[in-house]
Amino acid sequence: MRIKVIGAGVAGLVAALELARRGARVDVVERSDRLGAQACGWFAGGMLAPWCEQENAPPEVGTLGQRALQWWPRHFRGTVCRGTLVVAPARDQRELDHFARRSERHAWLDAGQVGKLEPDLAGRFHRALFFAGEAHLDPRRALPAIAARLNELGVPIHFGAASADVLPDADHILDCRGYAARDALADLRGVRGEMLLVHSREITLSRPVRLLHPRIPLYVIPRGDGLFMIGGTVIESADRGAITARSAMELLNGAYALHPAFGEARIVDMGTGIRPAFADNLPRLIRRGHTLYINGLYRHGFLLAPAMAQRAARAILDPPSGAAA
Ligand SMILES: Cc1cc2nc3c(=O)[nH]c(=O)nc-3n(C[C@H](O)[C@H](O)[C@H](O)COP(=O)(O)OP(=O)(O)OC[C@H]3O[C@@H](n4cnc5c(N)ncnc54)[C@H](O)[C@@H]3O)c2cc1C
Repeated sequence: MRIKVIGAGVAGLVAALELARRGARVDVVERSDRLGAQACGWFAGGMLAPWCEQENAPPEVGTLGQRALQWWPRHFRGTVCRGTLVVAPARDQRELDHFARRSERHAWLDAGQVGKLEPDLAGRFHRALFFAGEAHLDPRRALPAIAARLNELGVPIHFGAASADVLPDADHILDCRGYAARDALADLRGVRGEMLLVHSREITLSRPVRLLHPRIPLYVIPRGDGLFMIGGTVIESADRGAITARSAMELLNGAYALHPAFGEARIVDMGTGIRPAFADNLPRLIRRGHTLYINGLYRHGFLLAPAMAQRAARAILDPPSGAAA
């Protein structure tokens, strides 16, 4: 069984690994010349937060997403399992109550417990929600680690290649082109997400911290070595252009409200990714002849890729009896 996976984003790489582990012969084709150069996932937070996401996502996201909490630590050693902390400024405490009502598997912390968990936030928040079972990873390390694993398994990634030139006689095509697949999936839309990467030696965090705010909720995710990712806007637009001044100001203001040390942080990167989404914001596996599409991962590519990859591997390798293999 020879399978061509188009797209070396998180959906394509995770699916290629699931297929190769099950003995399929897989080739991956990536239009850009290096990993992440044109992938939305390069700008992602990498939060594996099935319970936090229940606050504004359909329940399936939580159910499917829980598989990521086993899959990523098994395949990427850099997965950090230290939970998520959710806080709100004193004037926005109602946002925290609302968040608690709409999510589950959290514990309320008082000021002392917040300080024990994140010493640099001691005295800044008198209560918080803690989602102990959640995890996070750095996409810019996780994607290369999955690519390296594929290399060990003998799965080539053809960079800078046109799909038509690679494995033209593949038995199956798995299309994981993200938003670029809108040429075939007419109801796919793009949702712009902007982020910043900053460097500061003045503050240490051990886990993603979400700061709730009625207008622009944001999160700060530690990447190690003084790096922090600040994200992310959610804008109904497929405009890939650079981050706007308004978004940068709002994200930086939010980080400053979390801790004033972010005022002195150095900005090391800014970026924009286009999240692929369907109208219901749920992922889909779509079959058209010998082509299967994984798409619509929206805000949850790292969270949902393992479950969608396992579904795709089953659909290709264990087709229901009577269906074409
Ligand atoms: C700011 C931001 C924060 C986010 N935070 C999180 C988070 O914390 N947790 C989470 O789970 N998700 C998060 N996401 C969402 C996540 O990044 C996306 O859901 C995910 O990247 C979608 O994956 P994908 O593989 O479908 O698409 P992409 O990541 O866009 O990858 C598609 C790949 O296909 C390639 N391609 C396209 N056309 C072709 C072609 N013709 N031939 C060959 N290759 C092609 C592209 O170059 C690209 O490499 C975030 C996104 C953004 C923007």
